[in-house]
Amino acid sequence: KPRLYSGMQPSSGSLHLGNYIGALQQWRRMQDEVDAFFSIVDLHAITVPQSPQVLREQVRTLAAQYIAGGIDPDRSCLYVQSHVAAHAQLAWLLGTITGFGEASRMTQFKDKAAKGGQDAASVGLFTYPILMAADILLFDADVVPVGDDQKQHVELTRDLAERFNKRFGATFTVPKPVILAGGARIYDLQSPESKMSKSADNDKGVVWLLDEPAKTAKKIRSAVTDTEGSIRADRAQKPGVTNLLDILSAMTGSPVATLEAEFEGQGYGVFKTTVADAVVAELAPVRERTLELLDDPAELDRLLAANAERAAAVADATLRRALEAMGLR
Ligand code: ATP
Ligand code: MG
Repeated sequence: KPRLYSGMQPSSGSLHLGNYIGALQQWRRMQDEVDAFFSIVDLHAITVPQSPQVLREQVRTLAAQYIAGGIDPDRSCLYVQSHVAAHAQLAWLLGTITGFGEASRMTQFKDKAAKGGQDAASVGLFTYPILMAADILLFDADVVPVGDDQKQHVELTRDLAERFNKRFGATFTVPKPVILAGGARIYDLQSPESKMSKSADNDKGVVWLLDEPAKTAKKIRSAVTDTEGSIRADRAQKPGVTNLLDILSAMTGSPVATLEAEFEGQGYGVFKTTVADAVVAELAPVRERTLELLDDPAELDRLLAANAERAAAVADATLRRALEAMGLR
């Protein structure tokens, strides 16, 4: 079976609809065909300031959402990144073969640093993509399903793996380019030019998995559209409507073209209500199951500890190979 690696940051109290459609939904579908490692990437989360108590809770909440969203911790390995020391160690080794200019070209850093001011950004935020390369290469991942916002980082991972193998001998599996699912990028409901993000300024634009169903429906019904009045996909001219079409398509499995035909001649009101109902129908059970799982934090901790051991066994062997190849053993 091909090896799959992916992860999400425990950087908010809930996943959002973009994480769900761009990541969790894809993962659940792929689980049977792959040997999967799903990580809660807390080392990535601390590249921006986090409160220790809140972070600890958010790690558990994210674990619960993974499971509630259909990740089976018996079939797939679901673990916390910081529980496996090899991540930080391999990131250091890879940092020594990454060009400063190469790292400077990563657009996520530019976007995130621009928010708080370049000087306020940490070095960790700058080297984030190198840690992500370490995550992927430690597990000899063949496939790395991430949203389209992470594509550049996976490309850097490929470059680093190829460079390392060429310089030090065959050590790493070069991952395949990112698998992009249909409508992989979901945009903010209030500013549909920017992606839906955990770190958005306006909460109204973000649908949280753990929002109450009524709140979710309200956010979708208040989504920004346009004045043209026709329901068709056009990213440049109609970003709001296009985003809602992508969301409905992900919820129902119907292609966007089919939905366009279905809603021809209909108003935005009916359309938005349909989208709201579809999202609530999908997310409400996930929310309920998450809350149930969170009632037993000790059981979640036990599960994460056991999975960390499974992950470390794989990661430590790869780290050892890399150290030996570089003459460090
Ligand atoms: P932040 O904005 O703080 O980086 P995030 O919302 O991007 O947070 P991550 O934990 O960085 O969340 O990403 C987790 C996964 O969700 C990644 O695979 C990422 O590609 C995917 N993802 C994030 N945002 C979206 C989005 N708007 N649409 C589709 N996929 C997304
Ligand atoms: Mg992100």
